[in-house]
Amino acid sequence: MAKLYDVIIIGSGPAGYTAAIYAARANLSVLMLQGYQVGGQLMLTSDVENYPGFEEGILGPPMMEKFEAQARRFGTEVIPEDVISIDFSKRPFKVTTDSGEYQARAIIISTGASAKWLGLPSEQRLQGRGVSACATCDGFFFKNKDVAVIGGGDTAMEEATFLTRYTNHVTVIHRRDTLRASKIMQDRAFKNLKISFIWDTEVTEVLGENEVTGLRLHNVKTDEESILPVQGFFLAIGHKPNTDLFKGILDMDKVGYIIPVEHTMTNIPGVFAAGDVTDHRYRQAVTAAGDGCRAAIDAERWLEGQGEE
Ligand code: NAP
Repeated sequence: MAKLYDVIIIGSGPAGYTAAIYAARANLSVLMLQGYQVGGQLMLTSDVENYPGFEEGILGPPMMEKFEAQARRFGTEVIPEDVISIDFSKRPFKVTTDSGEYQARAIIISTGASAKWLGLPSEQRLQGRGVSACATCDGFFFKNKDVAVIGGGDTAMEEATFLTRYTNHVTVIHRRDTLRASKIMQDRAFKNLKISFIWDTEVTEVLGENEVTGLRLHNVKTDEESILPVQGFFLAIGHKPNTDLFKGILDMDKVGYIIPVEHTMTNIPGVFAAGDVTDHRYRQAVTAAGDGCRAAIDAERWLEGQGEE
C-alpha cells in the first residue's frame, strides 16, 4: 500500500523548499520528490547576491543545501527522483517515481523552468565562468567588460539594456535581421549607445579555456565566419516551463506555464503551483520562495476546509 502524505511537493528549487518548510512546520506530513536534478536552476549559478539574509552573497549549490537542511529539520522527507506519472483523477492523488508509488491529499507543483541553451559543448563547459542565462543574477560580475547577448525577443532586449548598467559594451547577436521583441523594448535597445547588433548570425562556439574570451560567429546569409572578443555571453533565447507531465490536465498558457485559478490553486482542487512553473516574468529565487510560502498556506487551508488535516 502506497504511503499517504498530507502534501507531496514536486521539485526542489526555492519554491519547493519554502513550501516544504511552511507545510512541515504546520505539522503536515510532507514528501518532496526532488527530481534527479536536485536544487533546480540555482545549481547552475555561481554567487547569489540578491537573496536577503546573505549579506556576503552565497554560491547557488550551498544555498540550496541550506534550503534542504531547513526543510528536513521540520520533518520533510526527500527523494531525489523524477515523477513519472500522476493520477489526478481521484483523491488521494497517486504519484509514481522510479522507486515506487506515493499518495497525497494535496500536491504542490514547483518544477520550475529551464533556460533554453544552444547545446554547444563549449557553452556548457563555461557555464558560470562567463556564460550565463540570467543577466539579473550575474550582470554585476561584468563591470566594465564587453559582453554579448543572444536572442531577439523581449528578454534579450531587457537583458541587454540591463547589462549596460555595468558593462562597457553589449553586442546583441540575432539569427535573423528583424527582432521578435515588442516595439518599445526594441526602441529602448536601439537608442542605447552601449548596445550594438549583429544580424543573421549564429554562435557556433564559446571561446576560452577557463573563462570566456570570445565567440565564434557564423553569418547564415554570407556563410562568413568571425570572432567577437567578449568576456561574457548571456543566453536569452527563451525559457521552457517544466510542465510536460501536466499537459492537457492543468490549465496552462500557450508556452506551458501553469495558470492558477484561485490564488495558487490550479484548476484541479487540491493541486497547487508555485515558482517559475507559473512565472515567466520575475523568475527570481526570492519571488519563487515567496510563492512557495503562499502555496503551502493555501494547501494547509484547503486541507483544513476538507476536514482532512
Ligand atoms: P521569445 O519571445 O521566445 O524569444 C526568443 C528569441 O530567441 C527569439 O528572437 C528567437 O529567434 C531566439 N532563439 C530561440 N532559439 C534560438 C536558438 N536556438 N538560437 C538562436 N536564437 C534563438 O522568448 P523571450 O524573449 O524569453 O520572451 C518570452 C515571453 O516573455 C514573451 O511573451 C515576452 O514578450 C515575455 N517577456 C516580456 C517582458 C516584458 O514585457 N518586460 C520581458 C521579457 C519577456 P527568432 O525570433 O528567430 O525565433
